Order: sequence, then structure tokens, then C-alpha cells
Amino acid sequence: MRVCLINSPSLRTRAVSRSMAGGLGFDGAEALLLPPLDLAIMAATLRAAGHAVGLVDADPLRLDTAAVVARLADGAWDAFVATVSLPTLAEDAAFIAELRKTHPSATIVAKTLVRDARVLEELLRRSGADLVVHGEADLTIPEILAGTARDACAWIDDGRLVFRDGPPVPDLDALPLPARDLLPNDRYVYPLLGAPVATLQTSRGCPYPCGYYCPYPLVEGKAWRAQSPERIVAELRDVVEQHGIRKIYFRDATFTLDKKRIARLCALVREAGWKLEWMCETRIDCLSDELLEDMAAAGCVGMLVGVETGDESIMHRKEGKKGLTVSKLAQVRAKTRALAMRLHFLLIVGLPQETRTSIVDTYDLVQRHDPDTIGVTVITPYPGTPLHADAEREGWVESRNWSDYGGHQIVMRTPHLSRADLARGKQFIEEGFALLVRARQQGAPPALDGERRRHRAALLAWAHGLEDVRRRAERKAAALTATHALPLSVVIPTYDRRATLRKTLLAFSAQTADPASFEVVVVDDGSSDDTLAMLERLRTPFALRVVPQPHRGPNWARNAGIAAARGATLLFTGDDMIPSPGFVEAHLKFHHQHPAERDACLGLIEWSPEIAVTPLMEHITGPAGGQQFAFHLIRDGKAEFNLFYTSNVSLKRSLLVRQDPWFDTDFTYPACDDTELGYRLRVRGMELHYRPQAVTYHHHAITTASFVERQRMAGRMSVLLTRKHPELNAPLTRVDEHLAMPERPDAAALVRMLDAVLELEKPDLTKLAALRTGGETFGAIYRRAVLDPLYTSLLAMAYHLGVLEGATEPFDVSLVVPATAAAGAVRDTVLRLAAVTTGPHFEVVIVDDGADDETRAFLASLGGDVRIVRSPERLGVVRACNQAARVARGRYLAFVPPGALPGDGWLAALVAAATEEPGTAVVGSRILGAPGAGRRVEVPAVPFPGMLVQRERFAAIGGFDETCPDAAAAVDLCARLRAQGGRVVLEPASIVTLSAAEAAPSYHGDPPRIMEATS
Ligand code: SF4
Repeated sequence: MRVCLINSPSLRTRAVSRSMAGGLGFDGAEALLLPPLDLAIMAATLRAAGHAVGLVDADPLRLDTAAVVARLADGAWDAFVATVSLPTLAEDAAFIAELRKTHPSATIVAKTLVRDARVLEELLRRSGADLVVHGEADLTIPEILAGTARDACAWIDDGRLVFRDGPPVPDLDALPLPARDLLPNDRYVYPLLGAPVATLQTSRGCPYPCGYYCPYPLVEGKAWRAQSPERIVAELRDVVEQHGIRKIYFRDATFTLDKKRIARLCALVREAGWKLEWMCETRIDCLSDELLEDMAAAGCVGMLVGVETGDESIMHRKEGKKGLTVSKLAQVRAKTRALAMRLHFLLIVGLPQETRTSIVDTYDLVQRHDPDTIGVTVITPYPGTPLHADAEREGWVESRNWSDYGGHQIVMRTPHLSRADLARGKQFIEEGFALLVRARQQGAPPALDGERRRHRAALLAWAHGLEDVRRRAERKAAALTATHALPLSVVIPTYDRRATLRKTLLAFSAQTADPASFEVVVVDDGSSDDTLAMLERLRTPFALRVVPQPHRGPNWARNAGIAAARGATLLFTGDDMIPSPGFVEAHLKFHHQHPAERDACLGLIEWSPEIAVTPLMEHITGPAGGQQFAFHLIRDGKAEFNLFYTSNVSLKRSLLVRQDPWFDTDFTYPACDDTELGYRLRVRGMELHYRPQAVTYHHHAITTASFVERQRMAGRMSVLLTRKHPELNAPLTRVDEHLAMPERPDAAALVRMLDAVLELEKPDLTKLAALRTGGETFGAIYRRAVLDPLYTSLLAMAYHLGVLEGATEPFDVSLVVPATAAAGAVRDTVLRLAAVTTGPHFEVVIVDDGADDETRAFLASLGGDVRIVRSPERLGVVRACNQAARVARGRYLAFVPPGALPGDGWLAALVAAATEEPGTAVVGSRILGAPGAGRRVEVPAVPFPGMLVQRERFAAIGGFDETCPDAAAAVDLCARLRAQGGRVVLEPASIVTLSAAEAAPSYHGDPPRIMEATS
């Protein structure tokens, strides 16, 4: 037979090294051209069997498809074998299809190491090849071409794929010497060695468990087979003496797995007297000082070692680089440096357990151990690896286009890293290494030192979620220096009020002021009701700017609005405040007439004529109460700082942006926050003028029950305000006075009083208005004599209770972390909490439940509102949580076991869900990957990780049942709270990922059953 073996062309379209990635193919560069050893061995076997053989290696010969086809045109070829790699599958199939056209009667074989049946079927159908050889056919290729053997092949029969496994070559010494005379040897180049280079593969297979992700065991098997040193030397003799090549790259997966074999090989090479320069790939734990000395003496100039990650907790995992230790790495680094051998670290970003902090570890490892070169790839789920199965099952795979499987593309996310994170992590490591190389070359000048420090600081900011903080600081700095093109910016924070917000914005469209004189900045605080879509569709005559943010609360939103605003004057209002037509004009006119920085303008707030105003609503905005708006306190057109109402107030931007903070985000409930900022501004000289012409209409009906809750929260926030500004105690908040009162109302007493007031609200005042005594109607008398005093007492009680609660529960939430797992999981969870938890004022209570030394050392390094509770004996998760709850000071408890990794805005979303619906006892987070509704729903029970419980209710039922197994404790708690009338809801905006196996089975229970919505 005349057989032509072809290494298919790729270079013109894509530089792919077909022998890399275990032979699946890997994106390289023009400067990386390695010989097709597999084809050269097949050629030798075919020749030995008496066939006439040609070999075309397209890329080094610079041949594209047309040129290869032209070169083959004059030969009467009976068979072709053409290589196929995974990332070039489409191009290779097209090339083979072209061969089929020009040689319709020849036998055409596609040679690949891809084993996935779907991929092979796709290849056969697209290429028109007769069969695929996917296994080791070095010795059986003559029989395969003759049709007498079919092991290690796949083909289509009767429309269906037939797949046959084949045994690996048991004795690699039996392989013939590759037919290198058929190769353009002088054109092969390996960047770390130069050219011309020859490759040898002296062993096949790799038994190590990093085959979880690595393709070598997949394509070569786990059983390690090796050539004898004598056989290797015979091949080297051919390379050196017949072809004159002295640069050798050993392509074994783990060249030094058998140290004695390599020591003997080195001795033989030295004896031969060849001046070789060679490199190999291996594992750090397969090296010793003695072996390295032998290798250096035999011409080894460097090696590539698999390091993968600098995160030791992952490095030491079975499916990581178990066997590698940092101290061993340091030892090898020192030895190779002493022997002038180059060390190349092979790094992978995105092993499934890696977090952003793992990237910092890898970055630091590279900086500390100073390799000569590095290669950074992003985790790739090669089909057939266990990683691929996991990634498919967990939904991590985001591209199934094989052309993306070249090792440098990002085709999947991981449980903790998005594709953007993976790209950023790789970039950080590569940039850091480039700076290291510059420092090595330039002798670390101070300017470069600074650049390196800043680069690491940027990495840390990214890793710990502080980029947001940094961005805010930068925005703030920019705001301080910005010049403003517009006279006025209206700032509106909004959350889940799409219809009312639309009405508000339409009213801004009908202003008497020139639309070019103002803009409206709407900050969407993570609404779940398609507010953003509505805003996108809305057309307005003024500039409408939309700033989205995760749900964090109105003060975060206002601050984002301030940063985005371009107006010289800032006008704050609400999403439910419908402006009168002259609203903007009145504010503009005021500032035009009062250009001094100190002058601010308070407008009037009336109830919207479109809503029914209840006696309670009149009470809280009138002289009898005034708890919401107290315009009756205004004297001589001037208002005090406690009337700095963010529903209708404008001030010079330059005055506000010099405040630090702007709106104080410690106020997690909208009460006292505006007073607090107003006070600081007043201290800075602000004068608040009242302009009733600037009127806006509050389009929000308020119930008595909801305002009682609001007053209770106002009491809590007053405690915070007083802590920040003790001088406001006597004139304003009277917190000390409340704390000294002998009456100690509790929540039940407040509910009883509220129930009584609701009963007394029932008489129809319009009917009573028909009756008069003297000049007053009975309706007015009932209000004055019955309702107003009742409202005053009820709201005072609510405020009093709030003050008492605020003093004893200084935090909104106590985050409870039972440190019952390994140090890595505890650290990941605590660092994640620090990075993503914003909004509610929280403390962290960690139960050291017999933690190991590493965990203790980590816990000892924590600062801030973190309390460590040590238990004298090992309690387990359920009892540890109960113990933490006993010392917690938050109004809510949120349980975050090690391994649980909450997402951005998770806590704010939980607290919002807990406070917005009365009677809510438990709010659960959505576990990433678990089924669930896209909206907030009532459920029978929620998962334990990320579960928020009202502390009062938790304590009232005795906490978790300590006789319950861990997995059932959350379900049992929810059932008992529901039996007491508490609502249990699942909040989809709060997302928690489970990082490690320990978190999932222990606490998660049965997701489909738990998540099933009941309403
Ligand atoms: S030791 Fe290297 S070649 Fe072997 S499975 Fe691990 S990463 Fe792959």
C-alpha cells in the first residue's frame, strides 16, 4: 500500500500544538512547533510491514489545506492517516473532507486522542473519514488499514457509531524508532530550548489523581509504562548521530516518576559523551537533590513542574497536587538554581475549590519562589475527565464549542469564580510575574517596587471584594473635584416601586422648568419588579440617568446617586413623591437667589390627593403628632436640621460632597439618617430655608400597623444616632430618658395596644362629621379627644420599645458561624462574609467548636465586630448555633456554616424580606444550583446556610432542637415557627453557594422538597 500520514494544517488559521494537553491539542504560537512523534512511529511500523510511506507535517512546511492537497495530487495513495485535535476539530474535519473529495477511493483514517463518543461521531459525519483511530495504534496500524483489526477504532455502521477500545502498547521498548527521516527536523522549535529540537516520549500514562482535570491519564491511561534507559539511548543516538539534533524535549507526563530509571539514563548519556541540552516535564515530588545533580550533569537545562495553585488547602487535596508541598518546592527551586537549571511553573487558575483568595496564594507563591518562567492556563473540562462530568452536572460549563478548548479560552465557571474572575485571576498572576521579571532584570528600582506594591494591593482589593470600596473612594474623590455642567440633579433611590416611580417620573416630565436645566438620577436598589426594564423604555424630556446596584438600602443608593450626579445642586426626593409642576423651578429659583454654599432649601410635602388620608396619616404629619413630617415647627421661613427631609430637600453639591460619609450607611432603616446628615451639615454652617412653593405629593398610603413598626425602628435608629452624636440626646432623641423610665414595654404589650387602637379607629368619621356640637363636628372631636391621644401614646410606646431594643440589640443581625469544619472552609466563609456583607449593621459570632490550630490562628487574626465563643467540649453544629444565639445581640440571627459562600447583597435582601412582610419569622437564601422560584415565596422550610431568623422568636421556641440531626434542624425549626403563626419565606435575591462537600450534605437537606412553594 501507499500510505500518507498527515499532520493536518492549522498554522494558517490557528497555531495549535497537537501533541500538547496529552495530545488533545493546545493553543501554542508560531514559535512552538513540535514534531508529530505519533505519526513518525506509525510510519516506521508501516515501513517495516513493507508499505510505501509518505509523511506531510503541514505546519512547519507552511502548507495550508490547498497546498497539502496539491502536494498529494500526483501520488496514487491507497490510504491516508490525518491528525485531529480537539480545538481544531472543525478545521481538521474540513481538511479530511477535502481529502475525501480528491481521493474518493482511498481509505481515510482520522487520528485523534479524543475518546468522547459524541465528538467522534461528529468528526466522522463531518469529515467523511472511514474510521477514527483514537487509541494506541503504533503497532497495529498496518492491520487497521488492511481492515483486519479494529481495536482502538470507531466508525459509523448502519448509521450508528461503533466504538472499540484497544489495549495500550504494553512494552514501549517494542516501539520502532520514529521515522525521523520523513520529518523536516530543522524546523522544529520549542521556545524554552530553541531550535532545532527533537521530542522523545519515553513513558506513557500517569497514575496521579490530578487526572481529575488533567488529560494525560485520560488519553494515555493511569497505568504507567516506560522504556528502558537503553532503549531511550538508542533513540537518542539516532537523533544525535543521524539527524544532528542536540536539543531534546522529553514529552513524558511525569518523566522522573521512576528516579532510578532516569539516574541510569543520565549515566548512559554522560557515557555517550553527547553535549545535549534537554528539558522535561515532571512533578516536584518525583525529584531529589541527587537526581537533579545527575540530570544537570547529563545536560538537563530545565524542567516544567506542575504546581497548579498556591492555595495549599487545595494543593494538598487528592484531586489537586497531593504530594507537592511548598517546602519541597522551595528545596527544588534552590537546588535547580544552584545547578543553573531553569524551572517553569505550570499553573492553573480555577481548580473547583479555588476562590479569589486562592489566586492571591498563587500570585504570592510565584513571587516568593521566583520561577524562571511560568505558564498559566485556565481550568478546562476536557471531555472524559471526571471534572467534565462534574462541570456538566453542576452547570458550570458555559461553552461546548470545541474550538474554545485550546487551554487559553474560558469555557466554564467554578463554584466560586465566574468566567470574568478566572480571566482576571490569570491576568493578575501573569502581570505580577511580568513585574517580577522586570525587577529581576532592572535590579528592583524604587519606582518598580512601588508598581509591584500597587499591583498586589489591587489584587487584594479584588480578592477581598474591596474593589467596590476603592471604586467608591475614587468616585468620591472625582465628585470632589468635578465641575458640573447642569444646574440641578434630582436624586431618587428606588426599590420595587415600578408603577409609582413611573408616575413620579412622568410628573418630572411635566415641569415648568426647562428640561435642559436638570437631570434625574434614579438609583435602582436591586429591584425585583422589572423597574430597570421600565426605566429603559421610558422616554423623558430631561436627562434620565439610571444607576443599578445590588439591594443595599436607600443610603447606599443615595450615595451612588450623588457620585453619578452632574448638577451643581442636588435635590433629594423619593420614588413615591409626585412633584407639583413648579417643583423643580422653585428649587432652582431658590438656589439662583441664594448662591451661597450654606443655603439649602426644604420644600413642602403634602399627601397625594389621589390617596385616602386616614386620621393616622393626618396625625403623623400634623401638629398633634408630626412623627413623620413636622412642618409646623418651622419658624420665620427657617427649619432646623431635624427637618432635613430627603423627600424634598436641595443643597449645594459642594457642601455635601465634603461630608464624610455622605449619607451614613450604618443607618440601615430610613429613620434618623436624614437627621444625622442634616446635623453634620448644620455644624458645617448649613442654613435650611423653607419654600412651600416647592411642593411634592406623598403617594403612599400608610397603615397604623406599619407606622407603629416604623416608630419602633425609629427608636432603634435614635440609639444609633445618639451613639454617634451624644449631644443630640437631650434636645432630640431623649434616649437616656427612655432608658431610665420604669416602664419596660415589650412587643406583646405593643401589639395589644395596637389592637385596641385598630378597634377604636373603626367608627366612620364621615358619618360623625354630620353631627356637630358648638362649632366642632363629632368627627373632629373624636379625632382630637380619642384618636390623637391614642396615636400619641401608641407611637410613643413603639419608639420607647425601639429605644430599649436598640440599646440591648445594637446590631440588626448576628451572623453565626459554627467553626466546626476544616480551617480552609472557615476562612473562606469568614472572608467571603467580610467581602460581600453590606447594608444591615451586623456582628459576627463564631463558635470555636474544638477548632484546630490553623483555624484558631485565623480566628485570632480577625478584628471588627467579631466575637469568638469557645465551647469547652465539641458541640456539633446545632448546639454550637444555640450557644452563639445565647450571646448574640442582633435583632436577627443569620446562620452561615463553613463552606457557605454568600453572594453580593445577600444579607440586605434577607433583612428586607424579613421587615417588609409583617409576621415573617424566617427568611431563607437560595442555594445556588438548587431549584426555586424567581420571586419571593412562602415555603415550608428553608436551607440552613444563609437562613435568617428573628432572634426573639428563635429564643421563644428554645432555638434549634438539639436532639435533631444537623440536616433536619433547620426544617424542624421552620416547622415549629410556622406552627406558632410565623411566616417562612425564600428570598431568591439572597444567594448562597456551597463550596465544599462538607456544607452540602450536612445542612442542605432535600432541596426540591424544601424549596417547594406553598403560595
Ligand atoms: S501528575 Fe501531571 S500529568 Fe499526571 S495527572 Fe497530574 S497533572 Fe497530569
